[in-house]
Amino acid sequence: MTVHKNYIDGKWCNSKGGKTFTSLNPSNKKVMGQFQASNSEDVEDAVKAAEKSFHEWSDKPAPERGLILLEVANLLRKNKEKLGKLVTKEMGKVLKEGLGDVQEAIDIFEYMAGEGRRLYGRTTTSELRNKACFSIRIPVGVFGIITPWNFPIAIPAWKISAALICGNTLVFKPSSDTPLCAVELVKILEKAGIPSGVVNLVTGSAREVGNVIVKHPRIRGISFTGSRDTGLYITREAGLKKVGLELGGKNPIIVMDDADINLAAEGILWSAFGTTGQRCTACSRVIVHKKIKDKLEKELVNRAKKMRLGDGLKKGIEVGPLINEAALDKTKRYVEIGKREGKLICGGNLGSKKGYFFEPTIFTDVKVNNTIAQDEIFGPVLSIISVDTLDEAIKAANSVKYGLSSSIYTNNINNSFKSMNKIESGITYINSSTIGAEVHLPFGGVKDTGHTREAGWSGIDEFSHEKVIYVDYSNKLQKAQGID
Ligand code: NAD
Repeated sequence: MTVHKNYIDGKWCNSKGGKTFTSLNPSNKKVMGQFQASNSEDVEDAVKAAEKSFHEWSDKPAPERGLILLEVANLLRKNKEKLGKLVTKEMGKVLKEGLGDVQEAIDIFEYMAGEGRRLYGRTTTSELRNKACFSIRIPVGVFGIITPWNFPIAIPAWKISAALICGNTLVFKPSSDTPLCAVELVKILEKAGIPSGVVNLVTGSAREVGNVIVKHPRIRGISFTGSRDTGLYITREAGLKKVGLELGGKNPIIVMDDADINLAAEGILWSAFGTTGQRCTACSRVIVHKKIKDKLEKELVNRAKKMRLGDGLKKGIEVGPLINEAALDKTKRYVEIGKREGKLICGGNLGSKKGYFFEPTIFTDVKVNNTIAQDEIFGPVLSIISVDTLDEAIKAANSVKYGLSSSIYTNNINNSFKSMNKIESGITYINSSTIGAEVHLPFGGVKDTGHTREAGWSGIDEFSHEKVIYVDYSNKLQKAQGID
């Protein structure tokens, strides 16, 4: 079995502790490879390498850094098929989504390469004569990048591309469920010409690696995507670092009585059961106007029953496995709770025991405050809640602690605009599902999802400081605020 290494200071190396762990294919539980179960000494080496390379990298003109990022995008494109299959094998999402994961990485590296020729500051006027005021972007320093497993290429790419174009160096700790995707991504960064020490990969556990990164005194920024609980922990432990948090979701789709029901059903199924419900933007609550509830429900159940569960590399498969045993157990637990809280109308059972499969599952007659309508399950479980009015629908949508994505199906322009303004979320789609973010727009949430914005023009704020410059060319001491 291949033993994969850490990448520190431009060299592939074993952990100093000599321990390893394995990653499994969730479709068949076969071992994907062995990886370094690193410790604090490895993190320390990675931080030293990132510090050493910082000045050279941040001094390089941003358009030159951009050229290397563009080469990363080119290499990702050349290897898209191979990497897409790897995503499917290690994470479980079906191949077309595995390819989408890689495409998102290509898109963000291209976008951030272009950002190398922008990195805009602002210029503005001054209170005083003969004085210029403007801002420039400066890097933060060494960044700790901590990522989940559900977008094993795209999420690291979002963070790494933005961190690098802003001139930071970094220590990257991927999820231990998808370390092979991380190793292959870093190989591409190396091949594209990222200098030694600028990107350092340290695989291993939350406790031995993630936690050490979060608390490390010489790491100046943390960019984290993962669960709300880990986000809370990082908030408490990271001290005064610059921290970016992209956390969980409990995303609603509202369907009004004037909506196109077929279109809504198609969007709901894609959003609830695509990636087996394991997207932070997955729809887990349908809030439907009672006049069309029965019709929509029938449509959803008919179509969900036909969705084919299996190994995502096989043709015709629409729903892959959950990521691991713990995710399967969690889904089973919530389905048992759901049976007490609502009415099970579809699924509810395990799929093939070869892997971590669970059927697309739908509950109806769920109440707004039920556990299955409040907690992030992160599996293929959908709750249907019925309402009488748009106001009631929006109130239900806003009843959860999260606020990432949301959607409304309606043909009424007033309903659309009211929802855009009143739903508490970072993203609202009109007549489309809750998933489908594009990399040139900001992405993130409100409330307990965290308030970070990644990607798009805001992605740059996350990985840089805005520094203000005042230039006084009056040849005398001028004082602001009218002080004579
Ligand atoms: P997780 O929080 O368990 O782990 C995420 C990463 O953090 C992993 O690398 C893990 O090893 C590390 N980690 C865990 N505890 C840590 C600690 N105490 N200190 C430092 N590092 C630690 O999340 P997960 O199960 O990998 O991912 C699923 C979650 O991610 C869901 O809640 C989902 O909604 C969320 N997510 C959010 C977004 C978004 O953009 N908002 C995108 C994808 C996933």
